[in-house]
Amino acid sequence: MKTFSVKAFGNTKATNLLAPLSINRRETGPTDVEMEILYCGVCHSDIHQARGEWPGTNYPCVPGHEIVGRVTKIGSKVSKFKVGDTSAVGCMVDSCRTCSHCQAGLEQYCINYATFTYNSPDKHLGGHTFGGYSTHVVVDEAFVLKVPSTLDLAATAPLLCAGITTYSPLKKWKVKAGQKVGIVGLGGLGHMGVKFARAFGAHVVLFTTSAKKVADGLRLGAHEVVLSTDKDAMAKHLSSFDFILDCVSAQHDINLYLSLLKLDATLTLVGAPENPLSVSAFSLIMPRRNFAGSGIGGIAETQEMLNFCAEKGIVSDIELIPIQQINEAWGRMLKQDIKYRFVIDMASLKNG
Ligand code: NAP
Ligand code: ZN
Ligand code: ZN
Repeated sequence: MKTFSVKAFGNTKATNLLAPLSINRRETGPTDVEMEILYCGVCHSDIHQARGEWPGTNYPCVPGHEIVGRVTKIGSKVSKFKVGDTSAVGCMVDSCRTCSHCQAGLEQYCINYATFTYNSPDKHLGGHTFGGYSTHVVVDEAFVLKVPSTLDLAATAPLLCAGITTYSPLKKWKVKAGQKVGIVGLGGLGHMGVKFARAFGAHVVLFTTSAKKVADGLRLGAHEVVLSTDKDAMAKHLSSFDFILDCVSAQHDINLYLSLLKLDATLTLVGAPENPLSVSAFSLIMPRRNFAGSGIGGIAETQEMLNFCAEKGIVSDIELIPIQQINEAWGRMLKQDIKYRFVIDMASLKNG
């Protein structure tokens, strides 16, 4: 198969910083779309994966799965896109498309394993897939999203992971007006969770460990912001929530939040810390409570979320950086110093 070489940023082992490297992309096949990447959001999963905090990282690792770009070439059978269109790619670039989960629009849970945008076996070139910290990507059109024309492109990039990962569980657990909904952690996912829960009409309570984020939490749409280190403030919310979405990237006491659920209410984990969380049986038993998880969202639901954002005027609050500042940005994310998603301006890689 013919390939072409593109500039990228990645690391060659877990303990290395990210640095420039070159990777190969396949030439556009009949159903493929080639995109020049304009913007790529920076997800905490990029850090977990590249630093080997999750099992099975292949090196070199080129992260990035919040991709917005412009179509530069299309295959002969492509019908959804034309050259020059704005387009987007999230966490997946393919799946088996035939299993019951794929048929139900839940490609992320493909029984035969979805091909994730980075670190999945590459069906075309062998080796593993490389993500959006690069100048170009080639993806089958079935996994490419359309970006509504009213959305700011850089601020749209984070919707492709942080957006869909929070939108999908709020829909699945039917969050609606009149409900009390908690969002835990004000990072990339958390700030989108606050915006969506608010847009769905819920009474939104943000839990943060960072006193300096209280004002921003309210500005982003929370009705109340609670410092989770304040025991008295936490106690006021015992057994009162209809739904809680946990967006925390590191070790924390999940029982603290389970105890805030009403009878039969659900806490859904989207944060994916490196180490197991310890759940006390009685946090779930008394009164009967549910503890669940959720992974990104399917392709159709991702398009639905993008359209919803265009309708409601929702985008991410971002800090735009050149790729040369990526290691510094990761350092800041690890210190919870984030407002509220870094997005890489990929012109810095093209011209750098
Ligand atoms: P992020 O921007 O770095 O935000 C994480 C937030 O978690 C921080 O801003 C902080 O919020 C809170 N936090 C961090 N360390 C903490 C600690 N030790 N104790 C308590 N709170 C802490 O990360 P992100 O990109 O939103 O990702 C969050 C997690 O979701 C990551 O684990 C990521 O891998 C995972 N993820 C999962 C999916 C999925 O499909 N399920 C998709 C994308 C990402 P405060 O300062 O407000 O406390
Ligand atoms: Zn992500
Ligand atoms: Zn499948």
